[in-house]
Amino acid sequence: MDLIIIGGGAAGLTAAIYACRSGIEFLLLDSSSSMGSQLTQTDEIENYTGFEKIGGMELITKFRAHAKALGAPMKNAAVKQIAKTDGGFEITTAKESFFAKSVIFCGGASHRELGVKGEKEFSGKGVSYCAVCDGFFYRGKTVCVIGGGDTAVTEALYLSKICAKVNVILRRDKFRAQGALVKKLEETANVEIFYKSQLAEICGNNLVERVVLTDGRSVETNGVFIAVGITPNSSLVADLAETNASGYVVADEDCKTSCEGLFVAGDVRQKPLRQVITACSDGANAVTSAVDFLNE
Ligand code: NAP
Repeated sequence: MDLIIIGGGAAGLTAAIYACRSGIEFLLLDSSSSMGSQLTQTDEIENYTGFEKIGGMELITKFRAHAKALGAPMKNAAVKQIAKTDGGFEITTAKESFFAKSVIFCGGASHRELGVKGEKEFSGKGVSYCAVCDGFFYRGKTVCVIGGGDTAVTEALYLSKICAKVNVILRRDKFRAQGALVKKLEETANVEIFYKSQLAEICGNNLVERVVLTDGRSVETNGVFIAVGITPNSSLVADLAETNASGYVVADEDCKTSCEGLFVAGDVRQKPLRQVITACSDGANAVTSAVDFLNE
């Protein structure tokens, strides 16, 4: 086989679309039954060209349908290991092994933990990392969102439509998120913003009841949504290719890693802007580089 694409998010599915059109023999492997984990957890996207507003699930469904319509071969399987062999790579899943001359790794990224007292204890009992997944359980209640990036603001906006009150707690005196999102948040009536505030502890009995801030203030809440950044899912390729101090795989826009024949695309790649559109862009560039490599 010429190429194996690992990961079925925006980057992987775009790579599959480009691979179909290039005529090479390939297979896409993805572990999640829904494919495209981060997109499936995103409520609304307003900055993907051509769509003024579209749900994350709707967009990934369109990506998948597009790839399927072109005949992209896809398999639901969790990759356990990627090993460099003579002339290519051996990719091992729980049930079988594949050989491919090249690999495009689109492992994406996952939520980061905050690391405060009570976070682990109340995980699933009031502490969540996904408003789209768990917001429903807090209908008419009070929640806190921790963080000041795009994810925190997007989640807070989503929760403001379901919950009675949303407290957004961020450590600095300004948001990291895009201005347009922040403006929307500031204009939302049932949102209170706690600037220069950090969590010391999440407290409750069986379920979360309040958070305590490092300055001693206590905020009553039924839920705590933690959105303090993401961490790259790069462990499968960390021994093969160079990664930076934060664990992102080092590769330029051509998506070539330090390992010949291994390419990375999407949020797992070291880059300045992580958006759906830049993940798609990576998918296209990675296939172009892989095809050049295969033709060499
Ligand atoms: P992010 O941009 O890295 O923001 C993380 C936020 O968490 C920052 O406000 C950061 O504070 C805060 N934080 C980190 N560690 C913390 C700690 N220990 N205690 C308190 N606060 C802490 O992460 P993200 O919002 O998950 O976004 C990840 C990527 O996805 C970004 O590239 C983002 O642009 C993209 N994204 C885009 C969209 C969209 O375009 N609609 C939506 C979601 C995500 P500081 O600012 O003080 O560092």
